[in-house]
Amino acid sequence: MKLQGFRGGRVVASFADPAAAWDDGAVAWAEGRIVYVGPAANAPDAEYTECAAGTLVTPGLVDAHTHAAWVGSRHDEFVRKMRGDDYREIAASGGGIKASARAIAAASEEEICAALAARLRRMAALGVTTVEVKSGYGLEPDQERKQLAAIAKVASYTDVPRVVVTFLALHAVPVAWADRRAEYVATMAALAAKVGRNKQANFADAYLDANAFSIDEGRAVLGAAKGAGLGIRMHIGQFQDIGGAKLAAELGAASVEHVEQLDDAGRRALAEAGVRVVLLPTASFVLNQAPPDVSALRAAGLRLVVASDANPGTAPTESLPLALALGVRLYGLTATEALAGATVEAAASLALGDTGTLHVGARADLVLWDLPHEYALLQPWGTSRAVRVFRDGQPLVGA
Ligand SMILES: [Zn+2]
Repeated sequence: MKLQGFRGGRVVASFADPAAAWDDGAVAWAEGRIVYVGPAANAPDAEYTECAAGTLVTPGLVDAHTHAAWVGSRHDEFVRKMRGDDYREIAASGGGIKASARAIAAASEEEICAALAARLRRMAALGVTTVEVKSGYGLEPDQERKQLAAIAKVASYTDVPRVVVTFLALHAVPVAWADRRAEYVATMAALAAKVGRNKQANFADAYLDANAFSIDEGRAVLGAAKGAGLGIRMHIGQFQDIGGAKLAAELGAASVEHVEQLDDAGRRALAEAGVRVVLLPTASFVLNQAPPDVSALRAAGLRLVVASDANPGTAPTESLPLALALGVRLYGLTATEALAGATVEAAASLALGDTGTLHVGARADLVLWDLPHEYALLQPWGTSRAVRVFRDGQPLVGA
């Protein structure tokens, strides 16, 4: 068993535990799993790379909410938005989700795979080792199947960050189904059950909002998904609180996402059911929205996750570190909340107990940064400072 690792430099094992960091630390792994993390003085014999002073080793970042399997570009909409057009006006004129759906319909499965893999490699260069990727730009059942198949294929690659697959079953009603909404919802419920039975995804998701799908529609589709073994994530309260939190609690969802709008009863329901809240500060930055009430979320005892929401419209970036900087600057998250929210809490929301922290037995998903301290990760420099990135002990970035 060949042991390798890093020694010297600052090693942070968990962002949730201030005691789990050493200024002269070491981490060692073998066969993809951590076998030691702690002070360098007690480290076992191994083939170490000696870290220079002023470098940092941390768990790999976990991006728990992305729509990264898109093709095409919606830069024209960004320009319209900056001129003052509303997200909903753009959607009504055939832009938004429907523009991405046309691009997916025109693309082959191979083209979607290539776009996603390239994007994931750029994410790895930013220190990200696990990415949740949603479908949801197919809209038409056949196109959803194609997009999902592309995501599943890329999830089998070992030279990109680990992919957790989410079937975003309700995103928008496709144009051809505009007069058959109930039939569309029933079709997607049946498809969600099939995706679950065939184990083509880990989670199902639905976009529940005043301009999207209703609570009853969400219950029909996500209930079917849950019955077929899928975990549940939900987009709720981005524009209006229509009661998604109660449904999330009822379904035992792993997470709810956005929650710019959420009332007290909703926060209580989520807290009682142990549902994590995924904050997406990049989207509210692009949409120029007021942030969610983070102090109320915190007071309710909710576990907070921060994700990039990478998508071609409302968060056209692939950068989780940028989302962290915005989370601290715009949402008032503490440094620890942001960093834990993009590692240990994000992994927990994806039902992954063996990444997000460096502990004995965990996957060797880790990053060497040319930064002196983890708080430096939050400074919005817009550049990558990840020097070497490992997934399962294998290099994704830097040999
Ligand atoms: Zn989203």
